[in-house]
Amino acid sequence: MGLKARRAVLIRITGLVQGVGFRPFIHRIARRSGVRGYVKNLGGSEVEVWAEGADGAVRRFLELLEHERPPPAELDEVNVIEVEPRGYREFRILRSGRQVTRRSQIPPDIGVCEHCLREVLDPSSRWYRYAFNSCAWCGPRFSMMYSTPYDRENTAMRAFPLCDECRREYSDPDNLRRFHAQGISCPRCGPKLWLLDGRGREIACEDPIREAARLVDEGFIVAVKGVGGFHIAALASDDDVVAELRRRKHRPQKPFAIMALDLEVVGRIARPCEKHVELLCSPQRPIVLVPKREEAPVSELVAPGLAEIGVMLPYTPLHYLLLMETRDKFLIMTSGNRRGLPICTGVEALEELKGIADYFLLHNREIVNRVDDSVVRLTDGIPQLLRRARGYAPRWIRVPFKLEREVIALGAHLSNAGAVAFEDRVIPTQYVGDMDCLENVEFLLSALKFLEECYKLSAKAIASDAHPGYVTTRLAASKASQLGVPHIRVQHHHAHIVSAMASVGIQADEEVLGVAIDGAGYGADGKIWGGEVMVASYTGYERVGHLEYIPLPGGDRATIYPARIVAATLSLELGPEHALKICEKLGLHHSLPGGRAELALAARSAPSAPQASSVGRFLDAASAILGICRERTYEGEPAMKLEAAARGGGLVGGLKLEVEDGRVVVREYLLRLAEAVDEHSVKDLAYTTQVRLGEALGLLAREALGDAHMPVVVSGGAAVNDYIIKGLKKTVGKLLLPRGIPPGDGGIAVGQAVVAGLSFFE
Ligand SMILES: [Zn+2]
Ligand SMILES: [Zn+2]
Repeated sequence: MGLKARRAVLIRITGLVQGVGFRPFIHRIARRSGVRGYVKNLGGSEVEVWAEGADGAVRRFLELLEHERPPPAELDEVNVIEVEPRGYREFRILRSGRQVTRRSQIPPDIGVCEHCLREVLDPSSRWYRYAFNSCAWCGPRFSMMYSTPYDRENTAMRAFPLCDECRREYSDPDNLRRFHAQGISCPRCGPKLWLLDGRGREIACEDPIREAARLVDEGFIVAVKGVGGFHIAALASDDDVVAELRRRKHRPQKPFAIMALDLEVVGRIARPCEKHVELLCSPQRPIVLVPKREEAPVSELVAPGLAEIGVMLPYTPLHYLLLMETRDKFLIMTSGNRRGLPICTGVEALEELKGIADYFLLHNREIVNRVDDSVVRLTDGIPQLLRRARGYAPRWIRVPFKLEREVIALGAHLSNAGAVAFEDRVIPTQYVGDMDCLENVEFLLSALKFLEECYKLSAKAIASDAHPGYVTTRLAASKASQLGVPHIRVQHHHAHIVSAMASVGIQADEEVLGVAIDGAGYGADGKIWGGEVMVASYTGYERVGHLEYIPLPGGDRATIYPARIVAATLSLELGPEHALKICEKLGLHHSLPGGRAELALAARSAPSAPQASSVGRFLDAASAILGICRERTYEGEPAMKLEAAARGGGLVGGLKLEVEDGRVVVREYLLRLAEAVDEHSVKDLAYTTQVRLGEALGLLAREALGDAHMPVVVSGGAAVNDYIIKGLKKTVGKLLLPRGIPPGDGGIAVGQAVVAGLSFFE
């Protein structure tokens, strides 16, 4: 066939196309359709394909490209142009040079694929019962990478040279799932497992997984080394075991996540909808919050006082084999760390988890980058990330504009993550945690350093929160002066709104109406903000409405014991004597370590207490009044339990939040709520409080909008509350929630990075 009868196309594909077996896939469909040419990785997250041949062959190739692809691959753009044929005689995978892979996307960890799992369960397969089976379509990536690009010699798998058989498959272009797959191994050449007791002595047994499962079934607590850290595995069906685990972890109330063998088992313990199932089975395999099933064989102590339970599916063969061997087929699989500390990754686990775990199931593949399980829930039918970690991190977020400069952002304080940004990309680090322990601060800095090095970042600005007392603000200041670049302090809720704006593709010059529904952030007036309506652009904002300030006597202590907020707030409305009478009638003094005296002190200190316009603190106060939660043992607990208590509730007539002079009047509402406790059910009052709050915020937003047409963008830690969003939608109609970035403080660094990346300064 002469060149004349040929046709050629040059295809550029962007998306998640590197490290997911995309080039071998292209190679295969090229051979199937009979085209010639090449495929190669470009910089960024781009693949270039040259396909030429007879018209029918090229068409067939394009068809296959459209309809088949490796499961974890995600195609953002496919750009096809006709070009002059060059007379290629074969189809080849071209090696990419260092310079073009400089800024390639770092591939995230991918949950085990169905093919690998089938091999693990097939007695005739050479991967039978092999806990580390993986392929081009699945397996750890980011968690085992020392550096980019994602080649075996840059990962923890370099300690496991391929055996002859694995090497053959790696080099065989016809082997769709193992050709050029960087992480593959087999029982002969891959990592090994063993089991230790609590004193570090190896337990002699034929099959450490089966033995670990037997121990869990007997009620022991077993630490399991996984992909991005350790899990603590324990029976979820046994009250005594769960209570003992809570005692050992000093974690009285915070919910534990469950891992269930498969969807059938998930259906026994929860009521997932179609979207939940999709999330559960996605390559990211996050923990998904799913409505509890009432008659489920799960201990009430697993997620006390909540309507949802966190469930995930096994994401490695190791997990699957472990679950399969247990009696229940579902287990508590909670992060293996002591309270507040980062998740353990290596030998320190033995020391750190002593006193929590009775046994340790270990392996010898190093965890290079620690990364927790991600957590997702549906709010208004849209997946919202509560924790962005394994499977999502460190994927980048494309923004619809070019940043003026490269930026490092350190985030805020609680549930923190950092971010780096360059060109039109923002890359959040994995979830790190609270910044009140040194280990987490070090974790944040090392996670940022990894991204800085991978992307050869040259930061021209350092961004942080505006709070002068945050560790991250001080670190940002010193890093900025070290580098001789500006330190940009970004107001907390502006950063929240900007994160959401960037995630939904708002243009650089657009303005939005932002509604921040949040816990606490440092306000421009030095007070604590958290229920804010603002007209915002990427580089500035105007606060146009907010929640009325309420007093927080004792600051942090008021967030632990919200009865203090109630006493002080009612005291501003009625005076301390009358307020105390109402509080004592509600029994609020019983929830305070200092009893009546503490309550009285809180009431009297109202005028001088720190003030907050925070939705979170308002919900805490309502939760305390209704007797739902009066002591916070984990972040967001009173608000989460208030939301759970509202399930199935209805509106109480006449009880609503007024809007006056750009403020939602919350003090008077709390008083009326306290008076209504005797007349209505807790369920209805909880429901009314949250829906009415959403409506009131919506009214503020509508007033601010006037005739202007602006998208309404909602973000903040409490923006995942179904009932507030419901009320808000009732008054403003369409609204935008963040996509792929946590609405809470775990997403705030993205906003900081964009503000600092776009702002004008000398
Ligand atoms: Zn696989
Ligand atoms: Zn092998």
